[in-house]
Amino acid sequence: MGMGIHGVRLDGHKNTVNCTPVEMPIPEKVCLPLALLGANTSTILVKKGDEVAVGQPIADQGKGIGVPVYASVSGTVAGIETLRLTNGSMVDAVVIATDGKQTVWEGVKAPSVTDRQSFLEAVRQSGLVGLGGAGFPTWVKLNAEVDRLIINGSECEPFCTADYAALRDFIGDVSEGIELVKKYIGIEKAIIGLKHPPKGAEEAFKAIEGAEVQHLREYYPIGAEKMLIKETTGRVVPGGKLPKDVGCIVINVNTLAYLARFIRTGMPLVMRTVTVDGSAVNTPCLVTAPIGTAVSDIFAAAGGFKEEPTKVLAGGPMMGVALESLDFPLLWQNGSFLALNAKDAKLPEPGACIRCGRCVDACPMNLMAFQITKAYRARDLETLKTIRADLCIECGCCAYVCPAKRDMVTSNKLAKRFMADEAKKEANK
Ligand code: SF4
Ligand code: SF4
Repeated sequence: MGMGIHGVRLDGHKNTVNCTPVEMPIPEKVCLPLALLGANTSTILVKKGDEVAVGQPIADQGKGIGVPVYASVSGTVAGIETLRLTNGSMVDAVVIATDGKQTVWEGVKAPSVTDRQSFLEAVRQSGLVGLGGAGFPTWVKLNAEVDRLIINGSECEPFCTADYAALRDFIGDVSEGIELVKKYIGIEKAIIGLKHPPKGAEEAFKAIEGAEVQHLREYYPIGAEKMLIKETTGRVVPGGKLPKDVGCIVINVNTLAYLARFIRTGMPLVMRTVTVDGSAVNTPCLVTAPIGTAVSDIFAAAGGFKEEPTKVLAGGPMMGVALESLDFPLLWQNGSFLALNAKDAKLPEPGACIRCGRCVDACPMNLMAFQITKAYRARDLETLKTIRADLCIECGCCAYVCPAKRDMVTSNKLAKRFMADEAKKEANK
């Protein structure tokens, strides 16, 4: 299926773009889930009552693509709980009661990296996952034979600015991360996709051998992997294929900065910066918090709410997921939390489809969004396959432009799950 550049233009609402991140006080407890992608494969290395320090492994890497999990605070293991992730899966989570000292574990030391294999092993040991939202293990992404490294500095969701902050405050680390990946994975050319880069960023990137800066156009979802690859290289990732199948790795700027720091110091990702914004918050700002901090503590550190939030999203307004509770912990891949007041959270009453075709024009994947909804309602698997509902990247452009305010994203997600379940049933026959 061909892919033109569709998408939509959105207001940026980058209220926090000039904010200096606020480092929040260490919370009383953190909760660290052991499996981000829903599969509990790792073994817990600690038990209730154990003392732990910052950077200490609390779960091993487990099987398959798993990565280890590290304590983000020093303190005592208060227990192992079950946590429901936003995708509905239940995973084990280690709860640590903090001691406020942030004592660093004595085992934290820079890894020895000499070649591709030792680099990939170090990245695996770092526990790093994609910080742009997907949370996919970085070492798996890097374990590919490609000729283009594409750096995502677009942060195209409204409100979100944590990646801009990385470009502004840690440009040296981002550049070092690019050089490390180029060197050890053996990629000659890096393309850095930027929108409104902070002062000095472009110059810093241009100093990297084999690096090229490209200014991205103002449309959403330019930061989606497939869109970014098309925009920066002209290559089209076919349906069901991955970036590596067209010779590309796409990696986000914050991920690169953390990667460089880990290789230099051996300290895994234990803190990150998130955007806190939305109509219900007192002060939109950037907060730096230990991984596993409850979302309620993060909002409190940001000055609390001016109105009772009706909806809290992890992620941006287009692709973010609603959290069931403010007790939910900050995860490695969360770049923003938005608290919406009743007015903003209210979903419009959907009307009947008037067949205007706007959703089709807006879809960056060239899909027939309105047909996906219809075919899903009829549980018409054959049609869903024919119209390639599986290619939907859940960007929300279709719903955004729909004059009838139809919520196609929810039905598209359900359609994709239905297709995956049916495929599983077929495979088990
Ligand atoms: S949510 Fe899916 S169908 Fe809708 S515009 Fe995005 S890719 Fe297309
Ligand atoms: S944009 Fe809305 S009303 Fe128009 S065709 Fe698509 S679903 Fe129907």
